Amino acid sequence: MTSDAIVVGSGPNGLSAAIELARNGLSVTVYEANDTIGGGCRSAALTLPGFIHDLCSAIHPLGAASPFFRGLGLVKEGLEWIEPPVALAHPLDDGTAVLLERSLDATAAGLGADGRAYRRLVEPLVGEWDDLAADALGPLIRIPRHPLVLARLGLPGLLPARLLARRAFSTERARALFAGLAAHSVLPLDAPLTASFALMFLVTTHVANWPLPRGGSQRIADALAARLRALGGTIETGRRIRTLDELPGARAYLCDVTPLQLDRIAGRRLSDGYRKRLRSFRYGPGVFKLDYAIDGPIPWRAEDCLRAGTVHLGGTLDEIAASEAAVAHGEPPPRPFVLVAQQSLFDVSRAPAGKHTVWAYCHVPNGSTVDMTDRIEAQFERFAPGFRDRVLARSVMPPAEVERHNENYIGGDIGGGSNSLLQFMTRPFPRLDPYATSAREVFLCSSSTPPGGGVHGMCGYHAARSALRRTLA
Ligand SMILES: Cc1cc2nc3c(=O)[nH]c(=O)nc-3n(C[C@H](O)[C@H](O)[C@H](O)COP(=O)(O)OP(=O)(O)OC[C@H]3O[C@@H](n4cnc5c(N)ncnc54)[C@H](O)[C@@H]3O)c2cc1C
Repeated sequence: MTSDAIVVGSGPNGLSAAIELARNGLSVTVYEANDTIGGGCRSAALTLPGFIHDLCSAIHPLGAASPFFRGLGLVKEGLEWIEPPVALAHPLDDGTAVLLERSLDATAAGLGADGRAYRRLVEPLVGEWDDLAADALGPLIRIPRHPLVLARLGLPGLLPARLLARRAFSTERARALFAGLAAHSVLPLDAPLTASFALMFLVTTHVANWPLPRGGSQRIADALAARLRALGGTIETGRRIRTLDELPGARAYLCDVTPLQLDRIAGRRLSDGYRKRLRSFRYGPGVFKLDYAIDGPIPWRAEDCLRAGTVHLGGTLDEIAASEAAVAHGEPPPRPFVLVAQQSLFDVSRAPAGKHTVWAYCHVPNGSTVDMTDRIEAQFERFAPGFRDRVLARSVMPPAEVERHNENYIGGDIGGGSNSLLQFMTRPFPRLDPYATSAREVFLCSSSTPPGGGVHGMCGYHAARSALRRTLA
């Protein structure tokens, strides 16, 4: 069967690209290597029967704040966001936790002496989200539509997170919160731009919170697929594409893959110069992931943690900075910064009554084979003594296993490539239209394009717009 357009890969960006094309009247077929759709948006019973775990993404501030997803709605397709009472808890050794809440007032009040500084930094951006999203969630190398608003994020955001945290805040509590958010960049916190990650997460908290989809992140992919099918699109699973030449003819091919794979599957369609640039693309550190079935909730010392969907385990700014610096130096951190989600506290469909799921990962050097289980569990025990006694079963995914589940996660890199300054501003490499390639009919639509990692569909949306403009008009 021939289509106007073919999408390779059914991650959130592949499906978003396909939807944008289909709603512009084009016939679209998606080919997915795995037997299930969704890429980084999938759920499965990884431990015991009755426990539903998120294989990859769990918590979706960018998904809920994404202009593309917001425009789609997806309620009709059964997507239901659950908002935990607290977005993020960051426990400390004194038995308390710093809380990030949807309410800016509540968050600022909880930061005590730093409440006013917090408000000064974040409040001006919250009211401007729509304008900010139009510029920040797309290619950054273009004339911004709202330059002043973008500058308000971009100027402080260019700073290293450690520097901004020390300048803006006087308390260790606010600095620790900021550091944990900045660590989502998977960069050392002395690297430029790391502050922008923290700022984006803070702003999206107050705009859209940090929700989780009822039933598992698979529901996001399922809802996107349902919308695509309603628009006439089709999806074939279990079809690993080795070369675009094996596919039926189409006017455009949009690839939800990373540069390494694009080089392989589009091959001789691309110019030598373009392929050379693809080969110089840099991947970031990997992740080591654990999923647990546990008996009862996590026994946090700071009870406030039980109100949060996400918990950051890492202690102070300096400790988190040390953990990320070790990773950047190629060393698995002795005391890793651990990201935790506890979905079943807020979504009873995830586990049998009285039992719970726990999702956790830490950053490690790309392709690391070091077992981080004990180090991650030591961080749990530090903030939740007795955690290990509640574990009924665990699933362990070192970087190689993460990549086995999704070939886009090269060496366990879940961000579609390193977020180094240049590559963040202009991924996959400096180019006016980063979605177009040297071949008129081939486009890149994955998180290796702007605005990068996360479940938000904006890379796919922009790639589809590029294809519509250049090839499919
Ligand atoms: C452990 C982990 C935790 C995460 N946590 C979060 C989170 O909490 N919140 C969040 O927003 N994001 C999170 N992410 C990141 C998020 O999942 C990704 O950024 C997002 O899925 C990227 O979407 P994508 O469409 O670009 O690619 P992917 O979701 O990676 O999808 C790519 C798809 O292409 C398919 N494919 C690749 N090559 C081929 C081929 N040759 N032929 C056919 N199909 C192919 C793959 O099988 C895959 O299905 C997490 C990721 C991981 C792994």
